[in-house]
Amino acid sequence: MTRRQALGDLRHFIAHALVDFGTYQDAISDREPLLYHSRLAAAMNIGLLSPQEVCEAVETAWQAGRAPINAAEGFIRQILGWREYVRGIYWQRMPGYKQENRLNARRGLPAFYWHGDTDLRCLQRAIEMTRDNAYAHHIQRLMVTGNFALLCGVSPAALCDWYLAVYADAFEWVELPNTLGMTLYADGGYLGSKPYCASGKYIDRMSDHCRHCRYDVKQVTGDDACPFNSLYWHFLERHRERLKGNQRMKLIYGSWDKMAQSRREAILTQANAFLDRLDTEPPYGRGEHAEGYRRH
Ligand SMILES: Cc1cc2nc3c(=O)[nH]c(=O)nc-3n(C[C@H](O)[C@H](O)[C@H](O)COP(=O)(O)OP(=O)(O)OC[C@H]3O[C@@H](n4cnc5c(N)ncnc54)[C@H](O)[C@@H]3O)c2cc1C
Repeated sequence: MTRRQALGDLRHFIAHALVDFGTYQDAISDREPLLYHSRLAAAMNIGLLSPQEVCEAVETAWQAGRAPINAAEGFIRQILGWREYVRGIYWQRMPGYKQENRLNARRGLPAFYWHGDTDLRCLQRAIEMTRDNAYAHHIQRLMVTGNFALLCGVSPAALCDWYLAVYADAFEWVELPNTLGMTLYADGGYLGSKPYCASGKYIDRMSDHCRHCRYDVKQVTGDDACPFNSLYWHFLERHRERLKGNQRMKLIYGSWDKMAQSRREAILTQANAFLDRLDTEPPYGRGEHAEGYRRH
């Protein structure tokens, strides 16, 4: 990529996507990898665009009436708020930050992160889009691949290695706080005040994946139940001691505690069975994707 191409990408984003950025920035599509995102992170991270000129170009578009305030403010906040914030955390907390693992997560990365051969539709599509474009937008990284890893207890080192390997915009100073801090809560809440853990309900609300999935997002137990649902409760139960005092988690622990003991046991059994199966997944997958992966 050249500076000229990067400026062309910035102009393209402002002309065609910025206007809807604010409305759809948290949405996930089964078909569209980019939606209204800018795909400017790589150009900024390698210095072809300065974050300041990107913010100023967006501000100018808003002043000229070419973008609404929720788009301009939402976009500039990602750069001024998040990009600068995680940069500060990295330079302030390294090198110790990288060793943090407060939830004691030890699981290896599930093999399907490399080939996408999984019947969980949201994960399959996020991983396929990642493989095809070296890109996934923020909510796919945080709430699909990241959330699943959090719920399953994947180790920060294993997950960081994956994010660093697969994204065109990956640099440790921005990837590490996002993965270890925001996604895995491995810094004990230094970056974010509560874990970004979610059940299938969240994914169903934000995307159209579930209607294409072989699992039923409304079920928590049984053969067809969406694995995110039981894993979500399993995660909360596993980390009860650490999280129960967090004011932002009180309501959810209240709901869990109100369930009948037999129901809670069934949910935990369901999650344990899933995690056991995950540990025995063949490294190259089972289906057609496995062939593609081997060819690569
Ligand atoms: C687990 C995980 C790993 C990530 N790893 C990286 C990484 O290695 N490199 C990287 O640049 N971003 C990373 N991010 C942040 C974010 O996902 C990407 O910046 C964004 O998806 C890039 O696509 P875009 O340029 O289309 O962003 P847009 O959605 O168009 O957002 C505009 C810009 O805001 C900035 N931004 C938005 N969210 C964040 C954030 N959470 N942290 C820092 N900057 C942000 C980026 O510079 C981005 O280009 C990661 C997020 C998560 C959850």
